[in-house]
Amino acid sequence: MTLPIHTPPIAGESWTSYLSRVSRRLGCPVGYLPHHSRGITYPDNIAAVAATYGLDVATVQAMHLQRWEGIAFPAGSLGHQTPRRRDWTAQPPHCPACDHAKLEWHLPWILTCPDHRLHLTCEDQRLRASEAAVERTRYFRVLLTGQQHYAAGWIKPPADVFDNWRDALTLHHRIHRNHASQRSAAGRAALLEEVAPFVLAPTPEQAADVLLHWWKTAHPGRPQASLLHGTTTIQARHAIDAIATDWKRP
Ligand SMILES: [Zn+2]
Repeated sequence: MTLPIHTPPIAGESWTSYLSRVSRRLGCPVGYLPHHSRGITYPDNIAAVAATYGLDVATVQAMHLQRWEGIAFPAGSLGHQTPRRRDWTAQPPHCPACDHAKLEWHLPWILTCPDHRLHLTCEDQRLRASEAAVERTRYFRVLLTGQQHYAAGWIKPPADVFDNWRDALTLHHRIHRNHASQRSAAGRAALLEEVAPFVLAPTPEQAADVLLHWWKTAHPGRPQASLLHGTTTIQARHAIDAIATDWKRP
């Protein structure tokens, strides 16, 4: 069975958003559509789904989060969301000015809509995004295409770069004892800019300097040696070693 009216997908649109638009065009609830699973991952019968909606399989795949497995989050991690490692959001914030929802809004790294220069939000308020916040969204979009970039001084594939961003947030959180989860959309965007100098440092030495600077400005007294244990990927370890060396200095 193929639907009587073909609805072309919009670039970057999520499958959930696409189904909502199809249902509006056909004038029937989403629940009445064939293969109406609103999941963020595509089902096993994807070929049948694609045929029903008159789409290529690749097009349907690109509207589900698996497209970024091994890039924005580890392969095989979808469906195992834990509070400690939130790589995607089932109920994402949205742009109040967009007429469809983008798949990338499920990712915690995407905080703005560059088309409308607004922060993504869970409410209906229109909060203008800073130039830096919009540029950061564009940067993450480039990573999501699979391009290599800096990760604390090395050029790495995007999976390692995203790991490095997670490291940077964890290290920043532990050193400054901030509470990122309580921040507003603009606050979360500002936090990304605070940790960006560590991730984007062009050499390992400069990344280590950034971390050392955080450490020295946040801990004027004697630091606790255990604070940074268990936060390290390969990309961050050298910078933490720099702090360890600094402790031992008389
Ligand atoms: Zn928008």
